[in-house]
Amino acid sequence: MAKVLILGGGFGGVVAAERLAKELGDEHQITLVSRSREFVFHPALVRLAFGKCERDDVAFDLRRSMLDRRVNFIEAEVARVDPQARRVTIAHGEVEGNLPYDYLIFALGRRLATERVTGFYEHAHHLLTVDKALKFRNAIARFQEGRVVIGQCAGARLPVPVYETAFAFSRMLEERGDRSRTHITVVSPDPPGPLMGDSGISSVLRNALGAHDIEFRADFPIDRVTPGAATTSNGHGINFDLMMLLPPFHGSAAASYLGITNPEGYINVETTMRVSGLERMYAIGDCVNFSGQKMGHMAVRQGEIAALNLVAEINGQAPEANYMHEARFVIDEGGSDSIFIHQDIWMNEPGTVRQGRFWSWAKQAQQKYWETVHS
Ligand SMILES: Cc1cc2nc3c(=O)[nH]c(=O)nc-3n(C[C@H](O)[C@H](O)[C@H](O)COP(=O)(O)OP(=O)(O)OC[C@H]3O[C@@H](n4cnc5c(N)ncnc54)[C@H](O)[C@@H]3O)c2cc1C
Repeated sequence: MAKVLILGGGFGGVVAAERLAKELGDEHQITLVSRSREFVFHPALVRLAFGKCERDDVAFDLRRSMLDRRVNFIEAEVARVDPQARRVTIAHGEVEGNLPYDYLIFALGRRLATERVTGFYEHAHHLLTVDKALKFRNAIARFQEGRVVIGQCAGARLPVPVYETAFAFSRMLEERGDRSRTHITVVSPDPPGPLMGDSGISSVLRNALGAHDIEFRADFPIDRVTPGAATTSNGHGINFDLMMLLPPFHGSAAASYLGITNPEGYINVETTMRVSGLERMYAIGDCVNFSGQKMGHMAVRQGEIAALNLVAEINGQAPEANYMHEARFVIDEGGSDSIFIHQDIWMNEPGTVRQGRFWSWAKQAQQKYWETVHS
């Protein structure tokens, strides 16, 4: 019998747990530990902020769905991992002390490094949690006119909700009939050049921004926010009446002292999703050290690969499934300018880009599908 411990109940952890429950016999014990008993479908948080759906549409009871699949669920805060002793220390929660394991999947995502941007917490909105998205929703409801600034800080690596928020804001004002009284600016820390590093994708995205009269400013790494103004580390500034900013991120603290991370705290893994240099430990999702954007569909694929390889190990075989790093996502513009993007990140080939109303619908259908299959 093997004890398999999965840390983190996000996209990666949930998919890995489900796959393991399918592939492993009843004699093996599968346990998922997460700080919340709720699963949150993050890609829907922009829609939540703009009142297009409600709290119950974006979250479901993770404990129940895990127990239905014979996965034990523990609501607890993970403090640290000891790969030599094969145990995980719990800081607080439903259990205390150490949890032993034979195999571990680390899927704790990443942590907000808001401390790197002075004034972020006090003066900027973000929408990375249900509560923050709802707070932003209240601010949007109160907003009348002026300047809206939407962007990400250096190290956020999450452009999709930035563009979606800008498009949603523009559409909302268009529907209200007073779009002309608000200036919308998207700021990015990336250097000037093709957006997302691809000229085909860039021209489609820039055309969509232009169609909504949304200004785009590159090379704008915000590091300080005061009431109504933000400044960058390279000496620029911008005033705003409302700001939505994605903060910098850092890898999970629970892995930071193990010598298995890059300087930003992301875990080094092989393409099998095994942690480099450690036995019986896999890492998946936002917490791993892969280049480019950090996205849910990547965490899902990595969760499947890790589960397959872990099952092979338990059965005495070599892990043979390999992950290919692709970005495949939709930027929902809310209408006929919605954009589907596919980039083969490691192959460094031109991306594929499609545009049309279908992709807006497809993104919402994907949410329904996820809920039906996983809740
Ligand atoms: C607003 C928004 C929009 C997005 N849109 C898209 C999109 O359109 N398409 C797309 O593919 N991706 C999108 N993403 C990105 C996607 O949500 C993430 O890439 C994905 O959630 C990563 O999954 P994960 O399992 O690695 O980590 P997470 O989803 O972050 O899950 C980590 C889990 O670990 C738990 N945890 C963390 N630390 C601890 C601890 N110390 N102890 C116990 N539990 C802990 C957390 O509570 C959480 O349950 C979006 C993200 C946001 C915020």
